Amino acid sequence: MSETLLYEGKAKKVFTTDDGNVLLHRYKDDATAFDGQKRGSWKDKGKTNATMSAAIFAYLETHGVPTHFVEQVDDTSIKTKRLEMLPVEVIARNVAAGSLAKRLGYEEGTQLKAPIIELCYKDDDLGDPMLNWYHFRELGVSDEDLEFCEELGLKVNGILAPFFDERGIILVDFKIEVGRDENGNLMLGDEISPDTCRFWDKETGEKLDKDRFRRDMGGVEEAYAEMLRRVTEITQRGAVD
Ligand code: UDP
Repeated sequence: MSETLLYEGKAKKVFTTDDGNVLLHRYKDDATAFDGQKRGSWKDKGKTNATMSAAIFAYLETHGVPTHFVEQVDDTSIKTKRLEMLPVEVIARNVAAGSLAKRLGYEEGTQLKAPIIELCYKDDDLGDPMLNWYHFRELGVSDEDLEFCEELGLKVNGILAPFFDERGIILVDFKIEVGRDENGNLMLGDEISPDTCRFWDKETGEKLDKDRFRRDMGGVEEAYAEMLRRVTEITQRGAVD
């Protein structure tokens, strides 16, 4: 198979494949936070991010969400459709945490009255600022695409919040990205993992996501392994039931 490295990011490498419309994403064990100022690495991070993303994309597809997912190739790699990504990060939130807790002056952990969607401009140099529709129009993103992003954020949240609840996890917030395939269809891209979501244990409140790394809390490797276990064990049992 002819693989050419297309892109290398903090946490993954993306390769072309023999099929011009299919990419291979290989997840690494490396992590960065705070615009690359903080670096780290832990065992099986790549495995968790690839395997959890694959399981969740497959689950979302069965619930009518179009995604770029094609197949999981091995522990750390998935194949996806090749997308032209929108320069938008869509954030969905159920509980105040991180930047929202700061913005609203809420204590972290405050339940929101209804889910909140935020649109951020995907630009590392600018620090991914939150923008409104007027700003995005200025940047050339259409209203139709923005509407798709907001609706997708709400739809994915409506499917995944109960999915994680059944697994003893509060889905606090998460970030998704959207792209367009070769036929012009918009769909969910990127990944869904403890790097891109906040997961709190329902019973203990324990954080089981990248905040353990961002905030030097320790137990990062164990938290990622626990999230992988909760998603895959029950998914497999569900498949047998
Ligand atoms: N997030 C992400 N990538 C980013 C920014 C945020 O995956 O570049 C995720 C983050 O993990 C969290 C949610 O989006 O689940 C909301 O993040 P927030 O705006 O609170 O920013 P943070 O506190 O992480 O800086």
